[in-house]
Amino acid sequence: MISVFEIFKIGIGPSSSHTVGPMKAAKEFIEKLSKNGALKQTTHIEIELYGSLAMTGIGHFTDKAILLGLSGESPETVNIEMIPNFLEEIKNQGSFLVKHKNQRIKFDEQMIHLIKESLPLHENGVRFIAFKNQTPICTETYYSIGGGFIHTEEEFSENIEEKCFSPYEFHNAKTLLWLCEQHDLTISELMRFNELEITPPEMVRLKILSIWQVMQQAIEKGCHATAPLPGKLQLNRRAPDLFKRLSCIASTQDPLRWVDWVNLYAIAVSEENAAGGRIVTSPTNGAAGIIPAVMSYYHQFIEPLDYEKCERFLMTASAIAMLFKLNASISGAEVGCQGEVGVSSAMAAAGLADLLGASPQCITEAAEIAMEHHLGLTCDPVGGQVQIPCIERNAMSAMKAVNAARMALNRSYPATVSLDAVIATMRETGKDMNAKYRETSLGGLATQVTPACK
Ligand code: SF4
Repeated sequence: MISVFEIFKIGIGPSSSHTVGPMKAAKEFIEKLSKNGALKQTTHIEIELYGSLAMTGIGHFTDKAILLGLSGESPETVNIEMIPNFLEEIKNQGSFLVKHKNQRIKFDEQMIHLIKESLPLHENGVRFIAFKNQTPICTETYYSIGGGFIHTEEEFSENIEEKCFSPYEFHNAKTLLWLCEQHDLTISELMRFNELEITPPEMVRLKILSIWQVMQQAIEKGCHATAPLPGKLQLNRRAPDLFKRLSCIASTQDPLRWVDWVNLYAIAVSEENAAGGRIVTSPTNGAAGIIPAVMSYYHQFIEPLDYEKCERFLMTASAIAMLFKLNASISGAEVGCQGEVGVSSAMAAAGLADLLGASPQCITEAAEIAMEHHLGLTCDPVGGQVQIPCIERNAMSAMKAVNAARMALNRSYPATVSLDAVIATMRETGKDMNAKYRETSLGGLATQVTPACK
């Protein structure tokens, strides 16, 4: 069983698989060293990055995230403002301090990018080797499998399902709909019952409120930031100017003015993500702008989102993410951008359809429509950074989500393509996708647009 709060996680940008996952893995490795008594003997740690992590890790701040994780920081709580000082200190001292352990570990560029090698279980592999002087004393390999989820080699082979329990267990959309009908539940009610098995009710409330708050703060921050985005592209942010322009013409009669606002919300969050700011992974960081944009659209243009509606939206959207995670993938390195922005758009379409009064069947149809029109979408970030095409793509896919919800609600005959069919199609399309288009920056826009020819 996957928790709703594993799908929606408060973290930092720019990437769930290349920033959040590696940071969590590094922290887990340090904790492992501490538990098995090896930390005190550790003089230095070598880090090997494989596959997509090696190829686009620099642009995704994987190296910085790993150092933060090794020093004991986590994506949810790290103080973003202190990161530059933290990195400067490592550079000056040639070592980092492990939080709460009062121990310094030597760090002298021991991060190896093995761009021509991949580990067998997933494209995003990272191996940590702790040394006592020249002798390796502890090794662990982690895979960052998308959306900030990590697995060790051992966990990959475990049957995780056996260890989990949920009152309404589902593995595909067909069963989910059957359970809703049998128990007279909406999708969000069913998800809530499942979540309460692992999270106390007061914690559910607190987490839902925090998620919505962080989403709103990311929009606010993105609308007022001034510095260009980090990295070699040196892109100017678009959200601040757009915000100013839209604020000045608030009284316009343009019936499509809400479209500009949806674009603004998505761009503002995505730019915050690209800048390494605080966002909500949903279900990945590259796609973090879509759900806040669609929720804010509802909040601003339909009716204010109270707690109950926020919870409904997020619970329903999580059910859709789980179906994709269980039966396909939410990793751009595995299935291209259809697994990130495509899944997020399907989640947002489902959440919005729910709030607009759709039945469980209609909600799955909204998600299906949104994904059907992201099938085949490649991942080809220019310069290996989550900026082009990612930021604009979030805006485009937020709009697709709104359209998909409306199309599903306005349909007068049963859908021909089921959500399960589109998930299977997405998985197969991802498998067939050339590695150039799976977060390696070796094809597509990444090779047509180079930082030098900007
Ligand atoms: S192109 Fe899509 S999958 Fe690739 S980094 Fe950008 S948002 Fe993520």
